[in-house]
Amino acid sequence: MPKVFNWQVGRAMDYPFEEKHPRWQFAFVFNTNRCIGCQTCTMACKSTWTFSKGQEYMWWNNVESKPYGGYPQNWDSKLLAMLEAANPRGQVWDASAAGGVAKPYGTFKGQTVFEAAAHNVGPEPQVALGYLPTDAEWRHPNIHEDTATGAKGRPDQYGGTAQLPEHRVWFFHLARLCNHCTYPGCLASCPRQAIYKRPEDGIVLIDQERCRGYRKCVEGCPYKKAMYRGTTHTSEKCVGCFPRLEGKDDTLGPNGVPIETRCMSACVGKIRLQGLVEVGPDGMWKDDPTNPLYFLIRERQVALPLYPQFGTEPNGFYIPPRWVPRNYLVQMFGPGVDHAIEEYSCPDRKLLAVLQLFRAQRQILFRFEIKEGPKVAEVPVRMPDGKMKVQEIFNDTVIGYNKRDEEVVRLTIEEPTFERPREQHVNSI
Ligand code: SF4
Ligand code: SF4
Repeated sequence: MPKVFNWQVGRAMDYPFEEKHPRWQFAFVFNTNRCIGCQTCTMACKSTWTFSKGQEYMWWNNVESKPYGGYPQNWDSKLLAMLEAANPRGQVWDASAAGGVAKPYGTFKGQTVFEAAAHNVGPEPQVALGYLPTDAEWRHPNIHEDTATGAKGRPDQYGGTAQLPEHRVWFFHLARLCNHCTYPGCLASCPRQAIYKRPEDGIVLIDQERCRGYRKCVEGCPYKKAMYRGTTHTSEKCVGCFPRLEGKDDTLGPNGVPIETRCMSACVGKIRLQGLVEVGPDGMWKDDPTNPLYFLIRERQVALPLYPQFGTEPNGFYIPPRWVPRNYLVQMFGPGVDHAIEEYSCPDRKLLAVLQLFRAQRQILFRFEIKEGPKVAEVPVRMPDGKMKVQEIFNDTVIGYNKRDEEVVRLTIEEPTFERPREQHVNSI
């Protein structure tokens, strides 16, 4: 099997196809600390793409409450258990040499879904270790919504007793969609080669003409984001709202200028920032610290991939929630968690400015610029290790530019306020 380099696991790994990369890659950052679980994103996607017959159970975008929620149910814990069975006690990271462009989180010493597939003893050989969820597991997209660990009076209600000294219970919302992976498990598993990755933006699509509905992609996607449609006997998945990405709708922005997807544009909690990053022939992202996604993911490493150990090099990244037990987060986002939470807990002025760009504009931002303003506050912050730090707040201005390098958003750290004159407006406070 050919070897490809996966920067998220910090090493070369087995993959059934030779390494080849798109020129640009669709990517996104979700700040889990801000998600309120309102499901507006879920409904924006549903009402755009999956409202037809046979698609009733399809939620290309879903938001689940961790640790108990999942769509399909237990999708991650089931695969983690399969990987553990394939490689007992071997699914570990060596983060001692973490750092740099090629190994930002260290090296994953265990087996990816492609490597573990060789150990599968199921009835049929697999390219990517996986399973087909049952109908019952697809039935409840928001099962255990807002369910915390250690529920009052019933600490073992769902088998979980994880507790922090400062918070007796915890949960968090995890918004998910297809990660348009660099090494997709769905694509690798398709015996018809019906799945392809677009060279212009890295979006992964299923060719409906070639698909025969074998559901190997459903089995082989570790994130369970390829779904089977019984009415057409084909599989479907998130299409990355590609017409918006191509700038085809001039009611949303100037013609040809990429626009964020429906789920990103609709986000009420302002947790989402979508982007396109430039990729070199070796799969490395072009060094571009003024691209907001590059800045957050590669330069500051404040946003981390979801289950990087699966080995598909997903292009969805998450700022981890601060209040969740660390070992749970490390399993989910890899060993970069400590650093990411440290950065996010007390952001410096540059990071704070870039964090303002989330959901500030529908046009995809390719570049940001910061104009420095005066210092306006000093705020004491309790860091994850319990020590106090002083955060200096500056009223800087952050400016975002679209693909044509036109300014499309300008925001200050301090939100401008206007007090209405009481004499003219009787309801003024
Ligand atoms: S998340 Fe799943 S469906 Fe999407 S590209 Fe990756 S493997 Fe394929
Ligand atoms: S719209 Fe935003 S805040 Fe609401 S559930 Fe979706 S990701 Fe979370």
